[in-house]
Amino acid sequence: MQTRAIPVERDGFIGAVNRGGGCNVSVANVDIHCTGTHTECVGHIDDSGIIITDVCPTGFISASLVSLETEIANETSENYHVPFCDEDRVITKKNLVEKWSGKSPEVLILRTLPNNENKKSLNYDENPAPFFTNDAIDYITHLGVQNLLVDLPSIDKADDGGQLGNHNRFFEKGKTISELLYIPNSVLDGFGFLQIQIPNWGLDAAPSRPIFYPV
Ligand SMILES: [Zn+2]
Repeated sequence: MQTRAIPVERDGFIGAVNRGGGCNVSVANVDIHCTGTHTECVGHIDDSGIIITDVCPTGFISASLVSLETEIANETSENYHVPFCDEDRVITKKNLVEKWSGKSPEVLILRTLPNNENKKSLNYDENPAPFFTNDAIDYITHLGVQNLLVDLPSIDKADDGGQLGNHNRFFEKGKTISELLYIPNSVLDGFGFLQIQIPNWGLDAAPSRPIFYPV
């Protein structure tokens, strides 16, 4: 299901000014995980009932923005919990060690290169996205990242047989993952302050609008 908004029609009322209604009133359907920037918590992968508003920071948090290249999966020695395909590309621990100091690690924003504007509308069913190796996620987890933000649809391969192996390696209560960001090239790598910004929705995830203020 795509994100869509339909005017309310009830008892002669139509919630669309351009169709004669007195105001615009829409019912929106949102496929949170598949259609746009969103932030999720451990409740995404377990039955704990933990919701995103329990754990998502509400104020400013200090963060690192790091850009890195992805690698051809079959050319790395790093591991993933299902076999790589020829076309798979991955973010590796090796990339992270080279590009990120690991300092101030609680909040990590990763931008994959090349950073084309088509990321805003790319169909990832037709253009499979890069994902993280298990080694990369273990490294991030080991360094203490609490809030991980990426411009990919998932930190896992789109179809890993339903295991969501990297999600399970990373998640515990208190942590969040934000996916499907778009980070303009005008925002440079480095330290800054971040607001994740979510609506007050009692679900495992919510649409989000992370704003990064470089310092
Ligand atoms: Zn998601």
